[in-house]
Amino acid sequence: MTRTVAASDYQVVIGLEVHAQLLTLTKIFCGCSTGFGGAPNSHVCPICLGLPGVLPALNARVVELAVKTGLALGCAIQPVSVFSRKNYFYPDLPKGYQISQYELPICLGGGLAITVDGREKFIRLTRIHMEEDAGKNLHDVAADGSSGVDLNRAGVPLLEIVSEPDLRSADEAVEYLKALRAILLALGVNDGNLEEGSFRCDANVSVMRKGATQYGTRAELKNMNSFRYLKQAVEYEVRRQVALVETGQPVVQETRLYDPARGETRSMRSKEEAHDYRYFPEPDLPPVRVGEALVARMRAEQPELPRARAARYQGSLGLSAQDAGVLVGDGGLADFFDAALSARGGGAEAAKKVANWLIGELSRLANETGLPPRAWKLTPARLAEVLGLLDAGTVNGAGAKLLVEELFRHGGDPAELVRRRGLAQVSDEGAIEAAVDAVLAASPAEVERHRSGKKDLTGFFVGQVMKALKGKGNPGVVNALLKKKLGGG
Ligand code: ADP
Ligand code: MG
Ligand code: ZN
Repeated sequence: MTRTVAASDYQVVIGLEVHAQLLTLTKIFCGCSTGFGGAPNSHVCPICLGLPGVLPALNARVVELAVKTGLALGCAIQPVSVFSRKNYFYPDLPKGYQISQYELPICLGGGLAITVDGREKFIRLTRIHMEEDAGKNLHDVAADGSSGVDLNRAGVPLLEIVSEPDLRSADEAVEYLKALRAILLALGVNDGNLEEGSFRCDANVSVMRKGATQYGTRAELKNMNSFRYLKQAVEYEVRRQVALVETGQPVVQETRLYDPARGETRSMRSKEEAHDYRYFPEPDLPPVRVGEALVARMRAEQPELPRARAARYQGSLGLSAQDAGVLVGDGGLADFFDAALSARGGGAEAAKKVANWLIGELSRLANETGLPPRAWKLTPARLAEVLGLLDAGTVNGAGAKLLVEELFRHGGDPAELVRRRGLAQVSDEGAIEAAVDAVLAASPAEVERHRSGKKDLTGFFVGQVMKALKGKGNPGVVNALLKKKLGGG
């Protein structure tokens, strides 16, 4: 007899370790630039190269940003924390050790809320610590197929943010990662760029039978660089582990890599051999002391965080949960929304209109061009002007859409563009009546069918009149005149 195994017999358990590059100008222990994309080894010095006899000096800005992040996530900021050496050999780590924090990290506890399937859930954090990034191995850099090491990234400051194993599905893991990223973006401590690796995540995944009291053995999935891959990798890993458990085989604690092309994870190294890092306190750096003044300063710099912002959009501006969620989400639309709304003035009605333009037309253009709001040629004040022209009847909806696209791509002054491009709405009754008469005269068969009640051709006539008016007719006047001439209604 075969027993069908449903994954639903199992509880999935996930904890994420996120590495977020801090937005400092210089590296964590030296004055080298953190700039991305320079020629290999152009941002290096004896300290980040790890040459013998040099002394690291901690970048104070790194501590500030760590405290700022810890406060936003409700962590307990530690008055004293300690850097440690994590010893391992790898070509991209010439020192032979990474300076990190281990036993005494800068932040403990805290957490963040996520919403999955309409249910809110709090995910606890274990800790946040500061550490330096390693360099990068580049393969096939020369004609002979040899590899190289680029140490520009060595010494770039990172926060490692470690969650408790509180996540219970791939969807929860993705939501957590999105929520965390949105918070870091709002704080301005990280650029949230998964592709370039400045925001990356390792997922620890295990399964246990429902009702079991002890977690299963976990595998660690390394460096997922997109939300989609995270979901796919976790789902694959759950299937793999359930199959092992079901056939009485052990899950091995190990590090695995996800291969998106094959849709599967594979073993990279076993955890046992990788784990003996022989941490010890870094002798070249004094303990990190965070005084009350620094904490107070970072508290004063706390921005409105995404969930609070979404609640404000729903509560005082009357936006739907869906719209509020999109505005505060990854697209970075919220700042643009706030600025445009304040330029336009007005309450719920204006808010709904601004939101519609951002979520509709502007998100479409942003997706098409890959440009975030910061890079648009359209400014919030200009969008507010377009809405003003629309409300005043200077342009109709179609004209406003053309205007917004033109401003998005090339910038400029809306009122001036209306003149230059001849986008002004035609509201003049005489001109519209002439167009209506011409259309009706040219379509006797349609007029007959419409009048006989066989078919409602209003849409057809509106389209024809609008075409005759080059799309610029005032829809209200066009509809009213058509109704009058065709009779009915
Ligand atoms: P390591 O230093 O080996 O990565 P940690 O103890 O720091 O180990 O744990 C790393 C991550 O693994 C944390 O996010 C934690 O929540 C998660 N984790 C621990 N145990 C499990 C488990 N059984 N299943 C899934 N995740 C786990
Ligand atoms: Mg780990
Ligand atoms: Zn340096």
